[in-house]
This record gives sequence, C-alpha cells and structure tokens, in this order.
Amino acid sequence: MKILFTEQELRRELQASHLFVATGRTPNTDDLGLETVGVQLSERGNVVVNERLATNIEGIWAAGDIRGGPLFTIPPGMTIESSFHR
Ligand SMILES: Cc1cc2nc3c(=O)[nH]c(=O)nc-3n(C[C@H](O)[C@H](O)[C@H](O)COP(=O)(O)OP(=O)(O)OC[C@H]3O[C@@H](n4cnc5c(N)ncnc54)[C@H](O)[C@@H]3O)c2cc1C
Repeated sequence: MKILFTEQELRRELQASHLFVATGRTPNTDDLGLETVGVQLSERGNVVVNERLATNIEGIWAAGDIRGGPLFTIPPGMTIESSFHR
C-alpha cells in the first residue's frame, strides 16, 4: 500500500502493509450514575477535576483518561516523579 500525505507543506510517500485509523475516543461516563451524586461532567462527558484531580464533590477524585486532556498514561512533559507528587 502506498500512502501519500502532506507534512509541513511537503508531499511525502510511505510504503506500508496496513493502515490504522484512529478516529478519536469518547468517555464512557453516561451510564456510571455520576448524575446521582452530582459529579460535574464536561460537554464531551469527561469528569471535570481541578489540579489535584478532585471533582466538584468532596471525597471524589478522577484520574486517567476519564478526566480528558492528553490521553496518555503519563501526560507529555510530566515526569513519573512529578506525577506521584501530584
Ligand atoms: C492504541 C493506543 C495506544 C496507546 N499508547 C500509549 C502509549 O504509548 N503511551 C501512553 O502513555 N499511553 C498510551 N495510550 C493511552 C493509555 O492507554 C491510556 O491513557 C490509559 O490506558 C488510560 O488509563 P485509564 O485507567 O484512565 O483508562 P483505561 O485503561 O481505559 O481503563 C478503564 C477501565 O475501566 C473499565 N470500565 C469502563 N466502564 C466501566 C464500567 N461502567 N464499570 C466498570 N468498569 C468499566 C474498562 O473496561 C477499562 O478496563 C494508548 C491508547 C491507545 C488506545
């Protein structure tokens, strides 16, 4: 398979055997019952947290992809050490 694409205004060509298309991910929060405890969700359905990962409801925190932002185990630019200190 030949893939033609443009990168920084340069036309490029790539030979490949497979094509993986990532069309995005949506949070699976609609059936968790979060509305029954009043946890605030964003328009996209992510749990809204502050810089300490606390939701708007005392005693409930959210970590990982469910809070939105960069969908990585460790957000880019953040070291493992600084992740634990948060
Ligand atoms: C193709 C791909 C490649 C990736 N590569 C990298 C990479 O190289 N480096 C990196 O840092 N990150 C990578 N990521 C991102 C990384 O996988 C995620 O950021 C990470 O898995 C998020 O962890 P999480 O625990 O928040 O969510 P998840 O790993 O999605 O775990 C959520 C869990 O909750 C369960 N669940 C969902 N709904 C319910 C429910 N109602 N009741 C009970 N359980 C439920 C799910 O089954 C799942 O087991 C990649 C992701 C993808 C899709």
